[in-house]
Amino acid sequence: MTTPESQPVPSTATSHPLRILITGSAGFVGSHLVERFLNEGHTVIGVDNYISGQVSNTDLFRDHPRFTFIEADVSHGIPYTGDKLDWVMHFASPASPPHYQQFPVETLMVGAQGTQNGLELAHAHGAGFFLASTSEVYGDPHVHPQPETYWGNVNPIGVRSCYDEAKRYAEAITMAYHRSRGVNTRIIRIFNTYGPRMRPDDGRVITNFVHQALRGEPLTVYGDGSQTRSFQYIDDLVEGISRLMMVKYHEPVNLGNPDEFTMLELVKNIERLVQVSLNYTLSPLPLDDPRQRRPDINIASTKLSWRPTMSLNDGLSIIILQYKNPTK
Ligand code: NAD
Ligand code: UDP
Repeated sequence: MTTPESQPVPSTATSHPLRILITGSAGFVGSHLVERFLNEGHTVIGVDNYISGQVSNTDLFRDHPRFTFIEADVSHGIPYTGDKLDWVMHFASPASPPHYQQFPVETLMVGAQGTQNGLELAHAHGAGFFLASTSEVYGDPHVHPQPETYWGNVNPIGVRSCYDEAKRYAEAITMAYHRSRGVNTRIIRIFNTYGPRMRPDDGRVITNFVHQALRGEPLTVYGDGSQTRSFQYIDDLVEGISRLMMVKYHEPVNLGNPDEFTMLELVKNIERLVQVSLNYTLSPLPLDDPRQRRPDINIASTKLSWRPTMSLNDGLSIIILQYKNPTK
């Protein structure tokens, strides 16, 4: 991608070779980052404890000469003793509501201790620290779309709080290490992202709906299906991350696709693509489920010349094909 003046936008694609440690490397987003950085000639150290990740995502890179894997719970420490790192990217955390609600304490710990362990490692190496935060810091938002300046509406003791508050704390400690210890930090707030390598039993809406549609089962719509989300394809997210690494901007940046859909519209989109008439069931809306979500991406577009390029229909078509032919 190029700027309007056709200057290449700085990203890790144009950087000298980097040594990058990624926590959560066996997860959905982490594995795509590993792939991108290895393809660009960088050296990658992946760290994961598989609490919500997949061994198959590590196996993809295990034989790569520039990839090393450490199996560890980063909440207890990051046992890296190798050469000087350029970046610590903290992507470890259960992310799907069923996963983080199954492991609420572990989720709080990886947002708290895990983030601090990553910051300490980055500080010791003079490396950058990159935090994967989330649109969940906005909770059930009263401001729509959500700019980074919005402080959010989070239930601090609700069933989602283990995730939302962990990420809010993670952002706070990241800013504290930046302000008081001079760590070169980045924070992104990721909005709902989907793509290949999500666990089939992940529980998030796109994996559930696409698998149900392909199995000929009714789609499980929660609530009345009028709640909205904005879905971003993984490649757009990875491009935004890669660009932000090369821009000195320490405040949080929203990365998401501003195209917003109700869950019933999502059902209709999938129905058109699978070309089968779909049934759906309605069941109660989970507690504290946000009514609406859509990113304001002015900062990302101004600072990074970034905006998503993949439409929901095109992204869904890719994953439908892959779910139909999982070996391809
Ligand atoms: P994921 O569950 O697929 O991946 C997370 C990975 O972190 C897993 O491999 C898991 O085993 C690992 N992990 C969790 N706790 C760990 C620990 N204590 N020690 C070591 N490894 C640990 O989830 P994802 O969708 O790839 O999310 C990656 C990151 O992006 C998370 O931090 C998540 O909060 C953030 N995020 C993702 C989305 C999204 O839509 N995918 C949205 C907002 C934020
Ligand atoms: N959802 C749904 N059916 C499902 C899974 C999720 O209707 O089988 C809804 C869920 O209630 C929420 C939206 O889809 O309103 C997005 O849920 P997801 O778990 O993907 O992400 P998050 O709630 O974290 O945005």
